[in-house]
Amino acid sequence: MKKDSQIPLYWKAPYQKEILAKITAIKDNEIQLDQSFFYPGGGGQLPDNGTLILNDNEHQIIDTYKVGDEIWHKIDPEVKINFDLFQDVLLRLNWERRYAFMKAHSAQHLISHLFKKLYDSDTSKANFEIDKMEIEILKPLSFEEVLNVMNEANDLILRGDEIKSIIVDKETYQKNYLSKTRGKKSQEDVVRLIQLGEDGFDLVCCGGIHVDNLSEIKGIFLESVKENTIKLLVDRVGLEFTNKQRKLMIELENLTTKKGDKLLETIRNKLIENQSLEEASVILMKFLLKESKSLSKKINNHTILLLSLPEVDRQIIQYSAKELCKDVFVAILAKNDILCLLSSDKSLPADEIVKILMKKLDRKGGGSKAFAQIFVKEVDEPLKLVEDSILSCN
Ligand SMILES: [Zn+2]
Repeated sequence: MKKDSQIPLYWKAPYQKEILAKITAIKDNEIQLDQSFFYPGGGGQLPDNGTLILNDNEHQIIDTYKVGDEIWHKIDPEVKINFDLFQDVLLRLNWERRYAFMKAHSAQHLISHLFKKLYDSDTSKANFEIDKMEIEILKPLSFEEVLNVMNEANDLILRGDEIKSIIVDKETYQKNYLSKTRGKKSQEDVVRLIQLGEDGFDLVCCGGIHVDNLSEIKGIFLESVKENTIKLLVDRVGLEFTNKQRKLMIELENLTTKKGDKLLETIRNKLIENQSLEEASVILMKFLLKESKSLSKKINNHTILLLSLPEVDRQIIQYSAKELCKDVFVAILAKNDILCLLSSDKSLPADEIVKILMKKLDRKGGGSKAFAQIFVKEVDEPLKLVEDSILSCN
């Protein structure tokens, strides 16, 4: 068993925010200290950062990392500092960031416990950000099942069970804890376990940093579910996100004058309706382009069709363009003031006419010989301008 002094301080005193430490090794702008106060990262939890105070000057500790048993603290390399061995320095943790990681990490223990307990789905990966986490589970769950886990988790957070850190030697772990441990088993000589609840309803091997009580998480909120990846938020970040989403919902409710399931049904029906309208537009557009020759007129020896269809989307016209008859030029004034030009007449390329219009109108446009477009908002009679441009050719 490790002596008490060998157990990292970040395990023993996770709520300590500053400490006086002695420099024990120096490598350029990196130092080792006699206190393991900053967490060096691991298990999805990012390393700590903060400040080092030396001779009344504050320096940023931008990273902490571990090599073997050595923990290195990296100071901003832009700053020149002359460290001395055995010098005393004051370390101050970026507490807000650390505490946000502690909450998110603790919430993940609880959520992973419930995924396993309720749906026999193990957690394969977890990453943490400020009051945020991303969990990957092995067995995908339905939206309802994920919501059920959220509700159970929030009940336990409200109940406020304690989170206990247990540090034991290999022998004690194998005898008393191994059979009760969820997830990965430890091979270490010293085993650190995290227990949820007085009765130990969940027990895992973990070297990360956690809060002392589930109630500190305040609440777990669902951000997204995509196959096996679930994104969750906790505490303030979660509350703010939830209210922002509710604002969007209220706007949607006001727009449709429907709520809840009725709102969903209305939007679904509108989307279906929209899709059939688009399909009808495509059929109509293909028909018009197929019949373009018979509907056309002759301008400057070219076969031309001019159409005003302000309800039709540019995408629908472009999608139907392959139906155009041979040796025809079509100009369509479409939705959102976009003038679309289609041409199968080699002597009258669509992009050439757009170039003439761009010059005349000083507007944005472009395209190919077969299809080109130009924005014509507030332009008087754009189809007439096309006709004039064709006449000005040759
Ligand atoms: Zn943990």
